[in-house]
Amino acid sequence: MPPSLTDQYRIVFNRPTFQGNELRYIREAIENGVISGDGPFSKKAQALLEKTLDVPKVLLTGSCTHALELSVLLLNIRAGDEVILPSFTFVSTVNAFVLFGAKPVFIDIRPDTLNLDETQLEGAITAKTKAIVPVHYGGVGCEMDAIGEIAQRRGIAVVEDNAHGLFGKYKNRWLGSFGQLAALSFHETKNFTCGEGGALLVNEKRFVERAEILREKGTDRMRFFRGEVEKYSWVDIGSSYLPSDLQAAFLFAQLEVKDRIQEKRRRIWDRYREQLGAWAEGNGVQLPFIPTHCQQSYHMFYLILPNNEKRSRLIQHLQKKGILSVFHYIPLHVSPMGKRFGYREGELPFTESISKRLVRLPFYTDLEEDLQRDVVRAIWEAPIT
Ligand SMILES: *Cc1c(COP(=O)(O)O)cnc(C)c1O
Repeated sequence: MPPSLTDQYRIVFNRPTFQGNELRYIREAIENGVISGDGPFSKKAQALLEKTLDVPKVLLTGSCTHALELSVLLLNIRAGDEVILPSFTFVSTVNAFVLFGAKPVFIDIRPDTLNLDETQLEGAITAKTKAIVPVHYGGVGCEMDAIGEIAQRRGIAVVEDNAHGLFGKYKNRWLGSFGQLAALSFHETKNFTCGEGGALLVNEKRFVERAEILREKGTDRMRFFRGEVEKYSWVDIGSSYLPSDLQAAFLFAQLEVKDRIQEKRRRIWDRYREQLGAWAEGNGVQLPFIPTHCQQSYHMFYLILPNNEKRSRLIQHLQKKGILSVFHYIPLHVSPMGKRFGYREGELPFTESISKRLVRLPFYTDLEEDLQRDVVRAIWEAPIT
């Protein structure tokens, strides 16, 4: 968001959090004399995530987009292959695959969680399908039991786009630990950030060695640094997918206090839910639905208005009060690129309907209680009936 747009708002939509040790660790990284990738802070951040999430290997990347690209390379997805994903997601979910020639097969979302509708998977699978990409929207788990069962039976990989859902759970298991591979984002708008950043979660050991190589320009440099080979050389394709240790230092300062961050976000989320419940019911507004078997990650709070016109009126009303609320994804299948793949408006009804009616409220780790109260009050006063 350019500053000119946010300046006019008293209550902005997002603000990155600073937990206190960010600058100290960056200074430490500088003093360490190692600021390139895979330095001490990268190792600390990766170890923390591996231990907490109980995944065999975590590799920090420059972005979630890069982690998704690594997945595509690891799965040898190439021109002509197909990948099934929701249309209601960020462009990177699809672009990482399209970049390497894959064809996106968009399916609709569930009207309750806004996650990909797992009952539509079977009908979308062809002999060319190589991957299913569930996106845990708002950090609420997709139906991973059903998705995993179908993928396994049909011999298709699962790559979780877990940009929203770090530390969320599905049936008591961490999001990001279900697919062969999963991608995290540490972009400024996510729960944990280092400005721009991401991570690849490698859940199957057979991918680990090649993941390290693809991420290091197609070389076995990581093995060299571990003393496993005498010199490093060009052994495969690859690119440079590492963040600098300065970014990792910033990130580690947030991950080490992850419970504090998540607790703050939980309180904000719960307050919205509590203070807007009656209003929503009285105005035919749908609030986020969290199935009882899901523990969400408290990534966002949204409202789904009865129609597009009421959403516009609410956004304008909040704007007049100095509050920035924003809608979310424009369906990918009706975008100019989506149309090039042959999609048309009308094909994914829930995606299109939700996209026109959803609005996200200001939500960030350090959102003050009195500001949040103002948001809630403004919503109750909105002329939408
Ligand atoms: C933020 C986001 C991404 C991209 O993350 P980057 O780290 O900016 O590459 C991908 N998918 C989803 C669902 C996101 O919200």
